[in-house]
Amino acid sequence: MKLDATDLRYVTSDEFRVLSSVEQGSRNHEVIPTVLIAQISRITGGQVNKCLGALAKRGLVARVQNTKYLRTDDGYRLTYGGLDFLALKTYSKRSTVTSVGQQVGVGKEGDIYIVKGTGSNVYNAKGKGREEDGADEEDGEEEHDSEYDDSQDEELGGSMRILKIHRLGRISFRNIKSKRDYLGKRKSASWMYMSRLAAMKEYEFMKALYHYGIPVPKPYDQARHTIVMSLVDGFPMRQLSVLEDPSILYSKLMDLIVRMAYVGLIHGDFNEFNVMIGEADEEPVVIDFPQMVSIRHENAESYFSRDVECIRRFFRRRFRFESEEFPTFQETMHDLKQMQEQAGNGENLVNEEGVHIDDLTPRQRRALLARNGLVRIDELVEASGFGRQLQEELEAYMMDVAEEPGEGDNDVSSEGESESEDEESEDDEDEESEEDPVDDAIATQTKNLKLGNDEQDEE
Ligand code: ADP
Ligand code: MG
Repeated sequence: MKLDATDLRYVTSDEFRVLSSVEQGSRNHEVIPTVLIAQISRITGGQVNKCLGALAKRGLVARVQNTKYLRTDDGYRLTYGGLDFLALKTYSKRSTVTSVGQQVGVGKEGDIYIVKGTGSNVYNAKGKGREEDGADEEDGEEEHDSEYDDSQDEELGGSMRILKIHRLGRISFRNIKSKRDYLGKRKSASWMYMSRLAAMKEYEFMKALYHYGIPVPKPYDQARHTIVMSLVDGFPMRQLSVLEDPSILYSKLMDLIVRMAYVGLIHGDFNEFNVMIGEADEEPVVIDFPQMVSIRHENAESYFSRDVECIRRFFRRRFRFESEEFPTFQETMHDLKQMQEQAGNGENLVNEEGVHIDDLTPRQRRALLARNGLVRIDELVEASGFGRQLQEELEAYMMDVAEEPGEGDNDVSSEGESESEDEESEDDEDEESEEDPVDDAIATQTKNLKLGNDEQDEE
């Protein structure tokens, strides 16, 4: 599924209104009757049909005929392309995306594009839950604007960014065994809804992790089923073949797992695909967290061990490196508790270089608090726009999908002495979907485009 790289300006304002109406209608209709689209958009008669025809021709909506569910024989549904378009339109308005470049990844459940942009929407969107930062304000040392301000890149047309499009519907809902409540009435729009939840979740966590100094891409914006983040100048760890001293990177990765646990989180899919290695500094950057869970999760311990084991296995296979030292969940929780007791309210903390917390920049200060177990990101996110109920809905969906045979690669328990060293054959599938640096076919087709910024408002 490719992003429609046609100039956004070529959609007329009437067409845009009709498209938005189709989206609105799809909240409770699988197929939206043309009459309803006309009603919502308040565009009548031949004009609505004309618009729908034009949108269908571009693949933004799809015509559905002779449907069983409807009295009429005629209706439309929103396509992934249509939803992509609406998200891009939003970004375009906010300047978080000003042009779209090549596709760099086709995941099982997401597409990745390089884009450019100037703006950021991190502190504008609603329900951001950043009240705990009162301290920064008191000092007059606010840095949140500069932290996200890429205006120095404006002459270059903005900074290079990554647009990640979540596509959970790729796994057919019909294949889901247990039809749980969460599908409920929304079943019709479930691919859109679940993809959107995944994007919201990833964005909320990325913001908090970034804010507290865990190395993740810098988040810029979120719209519908997509997010925009900084481009990591590096490559997935999977592409690392030689390391002079594997123990250095190994320790950094274990340290990251522990640091995340100290802020209340377990990545849940911490492996060589989801760790990027910086080109310049060789520092790891963590990506891809729609399955992140809290350390309070009932299966926290097994998720934690799985993350640790993934890294150990990779180092064992790739670098023939094995260490006796690795964190366990119990120990980590024990250390966390002790550390919290020692740290008290944090006012006497010093960093690794012995600098007192009062003498640090706000960003360093936050990172120090996080390292000492005085920040709970799981709780902050729960209080944000992505609350507990939504998390549970998404998790239930993901669990169901993971249960599908052949879907997901979550089982490391089968690993043992007999484990195959022949990783080529085992990883073939991943290789295709994850590592193809840039699929030639796609590269030649991609266009650099300017995104129009017309007067249209969405709802
Ligand atoms: P998926 O759900 O498809 O696994 P990921 O977030 O892991 O999605 O991204 C897939 C691939 O896209 C990564 O393995 C990486 O190569 C690339 N990628 C994702 N995010 C970034 C980023 N911020 N900077 C650079 N490359 C990225
Ligand atoms: Mg990934």
